[in-house]
Amino acid sequence: MSHTCDHCGRTESDAAALLTWTTSVERDRQLRYCAACSREHLRALEGKLDHEWW
Ligand SMILES: [Zn+2]
Repeated sequence: MSHTCDHCGRTESDAAALLTWTTSVERDRQLRYCAACSREHLRALEGKLDHEWW
């Protein structure tokens, strides 16, 4: 079973590697992000949060 990153389109079929992927549900769709995109995603979320906190 392989998954496709919804951000960069990369596919991964290695179960261990897939553990580093994150999933999020947005507008009733389940999206998957690979490890690299997860980091980008989290940094963006944290950056936004920081911005709002300040
Ligand atoms: Zn990706």
